[in-house]
Amino acid sequence: MDQPLPIPQDLPGAAAAYAAAGICVFRVRPDKAPFANCPRCRPPSPTRPNPFYIEHRPEECRCTARTCHGFHAATTDVDLVRQWWAEQPDANIGAPCALNSWAVLDIDPRHGGDQSLAVLEQRVGILPGAVMQLTGGGGLHIVYRTPSVALPGTLGPGLDVKHNGYVLLAPSLHASGGRYRWSGDGRFRQPVTPWPAALTPWQRGAAA
Ligand SMILES: [Zn+2]
Ligand SMILES: [Zn+2]
Repeated sequence: MDQPLPIPQDLPGAAAAYAAAGICVFRVRPDKAPFANCPRCRPPSPTRPNPFYIEHRPEECRCTARTCHGFHAATTDVDLVRQWWAEQPDANIGAPCALNSWAVLDIDPRHGGDQSLAVLEQRVGILPGAVMQLTGGGGLHIVYRTPSVALPGTLGPGLDVKHNGYVLLAPSLHASGGRYRWSGDGRFRQPVTPWPAALTPWQRGAAA
């Protein structure tokens, strides 16, 4: 996808647009509670036995409804995405980072992320520009391409690295009432900037 992608204002339309553009998405409830696993996918617990459970890893799930295991259900299947959001039109749009080859710098000023970023940039230099998303809660996502090296979970207070998890995509609704939004003209561009090597210096050292 080379052309900037206009994002429809409504969640069902936007979810389908992302999927059609090759972005893996899944539903996230407004309160972030996961969609329930089906009986075959729900591991038993001491207090809740489950004779229907079939032991399998989330990546190996063969459920036809494909809503089990949270973000492991993410898909680019536009028909399935339309069906999901027809069932729940107010579901937010989640995108697993690793599956989309994204490494996201998540800056939350409420926890000092802006100061952490300033300190970091004093040390390693100004970070390269990349695709950015405003979170609707005052935060900022900087979206890079995933490097082939392991990433830390955090780079300081309020400055997290999202790679194994997921991010919400515009126009998802933030808990504070604001909506996620791509910076600039609001259109989505597939990230092309690689994760800055300056942020994984131990890997450079290991390779030398
Ligand atoms: Zn299942
Ligand atoms: Zn399963």
